[in-house]
Amino acid sequence: MKITAAVSRGDTPSPALEQLELEEPRAGEMRIRLVATGICHTDLHEHPGRHSPHPIVLGHEGAGVVEKLGEGVTGFEVGDHVILSGNSCGQCPSCKANRPTYCDFAMPLCFGGQRPDGSTSLDGGQVHSHFFGQSSFATYAIVPQRTAVKMDKDLPLEKLGPLGCGVVTGAGAVIEALKVGYGDTIAVFGTGGVGLSAVMAARLVGARRIVAVDINRERLELARELGATDCIPAAEDGVAKKVRAVTGRGVDFSFNTTTVPEVHTMALEVLAMNGTAGFVAAPRGEWAPKMFAMLAGGRQLRGILGGDAHPGLFLPKLVDYWRQGRFPFDRLLSFYPFAEIDRAFADAHSGKAIKPVLLIGEP
Ligand SMILES: [Zn+2]
Ligand SMILES: [Zn+2]
Repeated sequence: MKITAAVSRGDTPSPALEQLELEEPRAGEMRIRLVATGICHTDLHEHPGRHSPHPIVLGHEGAGVVEKLGEGVTGFEVGDHVILSGNSCGQCPSCKANRPTYCDFAMPLCFGGQRPDGSTSLDGGQVHSHFFGQSSFATYAIVPQRTAVKMDKDLPLEKLGPLGCGVVTGAGAVIEALKVGYGDTIAVFGTGGVGLSAVMAARLVGARRIVAVDINRERLELARELGATDCIPAAEDGVAKKVRAVTGRGVDFSFNTTTVPEVHTMALEVLAMNGTAGFVAAPRGEWAPKMFAMLAGGRQLRGILGGDAHPGLFLPKLVDYWRQGRFPFDRLLSFYPFAEIDRAFADAHSGKAIKPVLLIGEP
């Protein structure tokens, strides 16, 4: 069937809308009619071509309706509302332990731009697909059933896509990976979609002090409304000292959502004895900290993928908290018509939008 998709060919500032041919779902796959999709920083980084082959349809925070089931799909019906998260193999030890974000095949399955057999679902193989098992910058997508998580039909589907990546990456890091709890203290570096989700999650689990650090003062104001107890502008001198001073001894946890090498250092310097620093992305540029001094005293440094969370188990819980007003992730969202993907990309780049969401089809 003919679909409209935003294609990254690497020579334009943002993906451009084109008509493509989408093939039928194969065994274990479903055809999803997209209602909306979030834009994540990974899309921005992959658009010019970093890990993924081009041309490709990006997008990995899709929300939509199941339209057709491939052979052997179980647990879904036509008409189900779903959100799409990362892809995983289902067979490796991590997947079997319900930790699919650490799937042995996460890189090829999420960034490879194709099925494991090398085929793609777009334009007879001319355009790469299956980005994070979805390629959701499109009116329709073919997705492996492992990528989809069923959602209740009374929920506003157009808001839910970002739960599948940005929100779970932040909230899962705090709740599932770091296991922050009652009475704990945490510093969150960077108050974009991932960082603010972490702040909301830290409040949810009863953290005593939640310190937000960012260069953007407007974002810090929002962080305060969403649960930060202390806000520190990153442009000032002595940030690490100021974070340590909040508790008098440093924080139990830090969570770094940035790629700035100096922030990777700072996120370790703020730790109290026995503290743990979590991060999501590699430093961009040279990083050579004094590791021994930083990790002495029981301190740990941990890379966290996808919030450590099993989407099928974790996302329905977040939705429940959202229904109760205790996890207002929708305050991070700004909506754009699909045709204005260039404006949404520009606003994501500039930071004008925290989490842009493209509206693609009727709910
Ligand atoms: Zn993402
Ligand atoms: Zn696996």
